[in-house]
Amino acid sequence: MTETNQSIVVGSGLAGLTTTFQLINNGSRVILLEKTDKLGGNSVKASSGINGVPTIYQHNNGDTIEFFQQDTIKSGKGLSNTDLVSTLTSKSLSAIEWLTKDIGVDLSKVTLLGGHSFPRTHRGSGPLPPGFAIVSSLIKKIEDIQTKKPDTITILKQSKLNKIISDEKNNKVNGVEYIDEVTNETKQISCKNLVLATGGYSADTQSLDTSLISKHRPDLLQFASSNGQQTTGDGVKIAERDLDVKLIHMNKIQVHPTGFLNINDLNSKWKFLCGELLRGIGGVLLSPHNGERFINELETRDVVTDSVLKHCNVSCDSNGLAMEKDTYISVLVISEEDYAKANSHIDFYVYQKLLQKGTFEQLYDLLKKINPNLDLSYKELIEKFTYIDELVSGSKTDSLGRKSFGNKFSNKPIYFGLTTPVLHYSMGGIEIDKNSRAIKKNGEIFENLYAVGEVSGGLHGENRLGGNSLLECVVFGREVSNHILN
Ligand SMILES: Cc1cc2nc3c(=O)[nH]c(=O)nc-3n(C[C@H](O)[C@H](O)[C@H](O)COP(=O)(O)OP(=O)(O)OC[C@H]3O[C@@H](n4cnc5c(N)ncnc54)[C@H](O)[C@@H]3O)c2cc1C
Repeated sequence: MTETNQSIVVGSGLAGLTTTFQLINNGSRVILLEKTDKLGGNSVKASSGINGVPTIYQHNNGDTIEFFQQDTIKSGKGLSNTDLVSTLTSKSLSAIEWLTKDIGVDLSKVTLLGGHSFPRTHRGSGPLPPGFAIVSSLIKKIEDIQTKKPDTITILKQSKLNKIISDEKNNKVNGVEYIDEVTNETKQISCKNLVLATGGYSADTQSLDTSLISKHRPDLLQFASSNGQQTTGDGVKIAERDLDVKLIHMNKIQVHPTGFLNINDLNSKWKFLCGELLRGIGGVLLSPHNGERFINELETRDVVTDSVLKHCNVSCDSNGLAMEKDTYISVLVISEEDYAKANSHIDFYVYQKLLQKGTFEQLYDLLKKINPNLDLSYKELIEKFTYIDELVSGSKTDSLGRKSFGNKFSNKPIYFGLTTPVLHYSMGGIEIDKNSRAIKKNGEIFENLYAVGEVSGGLHGENRLGGNSLLECVVFGREVSNHILN
């Protein structure tokens, strides 16, 4: 292959876009490959936000890098690579400042998500979900550079990485082969550095012979996915096949407790995520069997999911819903006053018929529909919410351990909908060193192959904390570009 100075970045989610922007903004040439016809990947779907500590938007709430680090390691149950956690948490402030000051994204609202000791998950005050706001601003910045200096960047959409080409000793990457999905031609390009930013594998359930979920966690094939259908672990599969890279934590796949169940499309394999934000602002989860809360809704995702699996199984034979198989269903309820804290999100979900605004009578009817044998009268449902209001006001202590609630339900209109666990995030991926370079099975480090974002593994351990993935893309995307530039 011909000698070149250019980098190839594969994947145009937040990890790929951050790396690309930083490289071209510093005068380095990039070819960006994206297999779909749109830039943005799963990153555009991110709805809860991005973590950062200690930022001005936290208003001196007592949070520190040390607390953030401890929460991340605790959530990962001791499996996280602590060097990577240290980089993630100590560079989170500069990541937020870069996004707000250099890229121009509004991240002024802060929420408490499950497993965090302090509110530290940032999003904007306007209607745009944070993932979309960040990605669209970065794309605009990249396009501005492309207009001014067209030689710096080539963006190839519908171009699917197919093979990685390395030198004879398999120490160094020389280029890639990709399929132009428009013409079906196979093409080759050379590079000085290759950055894999192809995302995770939480939608890799369709072709069972190649599926990473089928290989590493067949027990999870029963769940639908919150991810885009392109999320099939291509980078992981190709790098292992062609370069013998080491994979880590491949069986660690996060099942998010709350994907929305659309009552008119219960059996779809693809679900909208009901972001943790909606529990963070005050939403509670009820069991379909007795209308009872069954878990501290602000526990980490793995704990909430385990509890849903234990308490919320609904048999397809015994209910008024058109379900093809037994499903786990919990009912999310949000107070009218808490609605104001995430009104644009909630309006969108109401528009999609995933949440409805209604009365407690309507909530009761829905519970009856899910479970005609519901062990609860309407009066008892109202009493349960009177009790929840006492927890909210602090006059009673929650036996489930929740310390932070939203506003009282107080017999006003409510927002409610059905949720179910969904495949959401792959903690596993390509093992990397502290500079995000891929490690081979024999322990050697590739000098010019980087893995950044969800394609990499080891940072999150057993269970990723909400808001840490967008942060990972920004922090390590910037680290990778610095390493390449220096
Ligand atoms: C619904 C949803 C909500 C979320 N909310 C949050 C949140 O609020 N906060 C948070 O921190 N995290 C959140 N996450 C997780 C987070 O969005 C993702 O983990 C993160 O965006 C991954 O970014 P990435 O750049 O690594 O990959 P992606 O954004 O998935 O991008 C990967 C890109 O690579 C492309 N690609 C794949 N294979 C190839 C190939 N062979 N050739 C060329 N291109 C290829 C894909 O098409 C895709 O565009 C959420 C995830 C989902 C699904």
